[in-house]
Amino acid sequence: MISSPLLIQRCPVNTEDATLNPASQVLRDVFGFDQFRPQQADVIEHLISGEDALVLMPTGGGKSLCYQVPALVRDGLAIVISPLIALMQDQVGNLRQHGVAADCLNSAQTPEQNRDTLSRIERGETKLLYVAPERLLMGSTLALLDRVHLALFAIDECHCVSQWGHDFRPEYAQLSVLAQRYPNTPRIALTATADQTTQRDIRNRLCLENARTFLTSFDRPNIRYRIEARYKGVEQLARFLKDEHAEDTGIVYCLSRKKVEDIASKLADRGFNALPYHAGLAREIRQRHLERFLRDDPVIVVATIAFGMGIDRPDVRFVAHLDLPRSIEAYYQETGRAGRDGLPSTAWMVYGLQDAITHRQMIDEGSDLGQQQVERSKLEALLGLCESTACRRHMLLSYFDEVRDTGCGNCDNCLNPPETWDATDAARMALSCVYRTEQRYGVNYLIDVLRGEGGDRVRRAGHDRLSTFGIGADITANEWRAVFRQLVALGFLRSESSRMGALMLNESARPLLRGEQRVQLRKDATPSTSKRRAGRGGKRAAAPADIDESLWARLRALRMELATVEDVPAYMVFSDATLTELAAAQPTHLAEMLSVSGVGDAKLERYGDAFVGFFVEYHRDQEMPAD
Ligand code: ADP
Ligand code: ZN
Repeated sequence: MISSPLLIQRCPVNTEDATLNPASQVLRDVFGFDQFRPQQADVIEHLISGEDALVLMPTGGGKSLCYQVPALVRDGLAIVISPLIALMQDQVGNLRQHGVAADCLNSAQTPEQNRDTLSRIERGETKLLYVAPERLLMGSTLALLDRVHLALFAIDECHCVSQWGHDFRPEYAQLSVLAQRYPNTPRIALTATADQTTQRDIRNRLCLENARTFLTSFDRPNIRYRIEARYKGVEQLARFLKDEHAEDTGIVYCLSRKKVEDIASKLADRGFNALPYHAGLAREIRQRHLERFLRDDPVIVVATIAFGMGIDRPDVRFVAHLDLPRSIEAYYQETGRAGRDGLPSTAWMVYGLQDAITHRQMIDEGSDLGQQQVERSKLEALLGLCESTACRRHMLLSYFDEVRDTGCGNCDNCLNPPETWDATDAARMALSCVYRTEQRYGVNYLIDVLRGEGGDRVRRAGHDRLSTFGIGADITANEWRAVFRQLVALGFLRSESSRMGALMLNESARPLLRGEQRVQLRKDATPSTSKRRAGRGGKRAAAPADIDESLWARLRALRMELATVEDVPAYMVFSDATLTELAAAQPTHLAEMLSVSGVGDAKLERYGDAFVGFFVEYHRDQEMPAD
């Protein structure tokens, strides 16, 4: 997928400008940015001076530059270890767009391509080499590294080294070899998600005990978090997309392969460019859909978690979950794929009681009791997030030990504080109904009994004679569902895999049943109100704020045209952020264009004429008197 390699060996130090340090010069000339982000500058300086670093920075925070800039400033070859081919190709493609001599070694390349790469390395032409851990650890690769001068090692997605992380990769564990074999080469390990346990594991396993840690807030301020009760998943999703992301690229996550196929085809029927992706599809199909995800604009991929790591597309405007993920970490990782470019994006999820039940069953089926315990508490934390009436961002960040004291103003609960109600009586009815039916029934049956419905099945069991029969007739079935869902989420009720979805009482239900405790529950927003209240006011997300819609469409078309000619994804020509700046600056000279953030020397040379030409014409059209 990488177009013909452009292997410019860039001389990083431009002697014209003595006021800039070499790192800032690389930032400006190669990447076209004026300033480092907070932390980036410190990490880069630390690494350039030859020290080791562990960098925890959220997705979109700008981790890549943390090692790419030092790689260009330091002498020798920089090795970047990456777990996925797609990720490597994306990064190498991007670097080449910036005129940097980057290469990769992996099984997706032909033996001939890999041989060419090796000889470029031998000749000292390559500045950055992306490689998978398996290949790096092969004797022949290590022997090659012994012969060349090394600038640094960067270990990307380093949480893969930890069993506690969510993407464990055993090969990562062997990377400790690098510390022993190349003690004088600085190493930097980077990740976007690692709780305390995972961080400790990373340090131990990669021999980074003495590395300095650079911790940036995990917050993703541009992502708006929204979680709603699921009524009719597909319809809720379709409405969300139509109202708010009609022309945007995004990812929809579902739990099962079957559901992925189903949702993808239903979205396609509704006119969306939607593609399924899961591990059960043939390799070629997966590859094709991945490529289309990177190239089409807009495109929606409906996927299981098999679609994930390595999705580096920066302009993913939404991530939707139709089912509950496994844990807050997984949720954060998955939603984190939205808005890598820093522009407004949505993390939208619907969930229901069945999710809690299914997950509990999956956990119970595991064999290791300790693991079950860990997973159960992770599930509880996630359910707590779903049912919370407080700021979602607070809850997410506090899970990663970050404390905030004011609401974020960019989540559903902050924007439209949910109503709560004193549900003590309803909860007692529900719990006592579970008790009187001997903890043998699922939620639908229990609701029938409470509402005095249910026909033969209820009568045959004699449950029409129970004191709880019909006592909850004035509460609708949907409202009851919300009550049961929250009672499960709050730990008053549980389900066990051996009992087929039957709800059972937990010890903590006792005080509530006996009337010694009161309980407040959240009122579900009905789908029609949630749309109006939490959305973007019905505005289609076609163009960024303040940018003329037709200008935006034309710029996108021009970008796509250039991308198609070069056979690269559109975002590799310019990111949405850069395109937005171009739309605002409307440069009609190359020098003007160079001052736009994201336009470096190589991109100016390649695309400058096209965009400047476009704006010259655009201005002429604007000035023409309409007749
Ligand atoms: P991460 O790997 O942490 O998810 P990336 O390295 O992909 O993030 O960077 C995210 C986006 O931010 C990219 O589009 C990148 O070009 C941009 N970016 C990074 N550093 C800067 C900077 N100093 N100034 C402007 N944009 C930046
Ligand atoms: Zn909030």
